Amino acid sequence: MIHIQNLEKSYYGDGVVTKVLDNVNLKFERKDFTTIVGPSGSGKSTLLNIMGTLDSPTNGKVLYNEEDIFTIKNNKLADFRFQHIGFVFQQFQLLPTLTAMENILAPLFARKTTFSKQERVEELLELLGLGDKKNSLPSQLSGGQQQRVAIARALVNSPKWILADEPTGNLDQKNGEIIFEILQKLNKEQGCGIILITHDDTLAKKSDRTIYLTDGKVVDDVRR
Ligand code: ATP
Ligand code: MG
Repeated sequence: MIHIQNLEKSYYGDGVVTKVLDNVNLKFERKDFTTIVGPSGSGKSTLLNIMGTLDSPTNGKVLYNEEDIFTIKNNKLADFRFQHIGFVFQQFQLLPTLTAMENILAPLFARKTTFSKQERVEELLELLGLGDKKNSLPSQLSGGQQQRVAIARALVNSPKWILADEPTGNLDQKNGEIIFEILQKLNKEQGCGIILITHDDTLAKKSDRTIYLTDGKVVDDVRR
């Protein structure tokens, strides 16, 4: 469970305080596929980045199974993220000079694992339908294929949560739906908690729960 308590994020500039997140209180369960929807600038990415320890709050807490993630020492944060969270972004963020397979393995670089890295990457290539693309560079792949490589990379250490910031935002409708369905399957079949930001209301309505943000506040929380 991820528990967000009294979360606030403010920016200070020219003597003006801008509250980007205002007293956000939410609980997320791993069984749910949750979407976050809201106008541009409403604080969606800020919220997700704070939940993923990529940004820090001005006030409030984020607990993962009761552990306050902002009390984790800086030198342990990378390990925490590695164990708990896989990130997927709108711009894919693949390393352009590495092949699909090398991109997927990148998070494991210089890490000892209890599993075979080679077997894991083969399993993920298979799961995401990328078997014949393993030696391709990102520039040789379509947007949908690049996003599937990015998802495989996010999954390489079997994280408990996937945090996805508009992962379908750069894709056409068909590829957007394919990515959404892959994430749905991960949620329902592998128990991976999904929290996904989208502008696409049709996709949001297919999720278990949608949180609506406006001006940094939760204005609605719909369960289906
Ligand atoms: P979009 O749908 O366009 O991605 P968003 O809901 O993800 O928008 P955020 O990126 O979370 O919105 O930004 C929320 C607000 O915080 C915006 O008004 C933005 O200008 C502001 N903001 C973000 N980063 C900073 C910063 N470093 N300094 C000042 N303001 C910032
Ligand atoms: Mg955003």
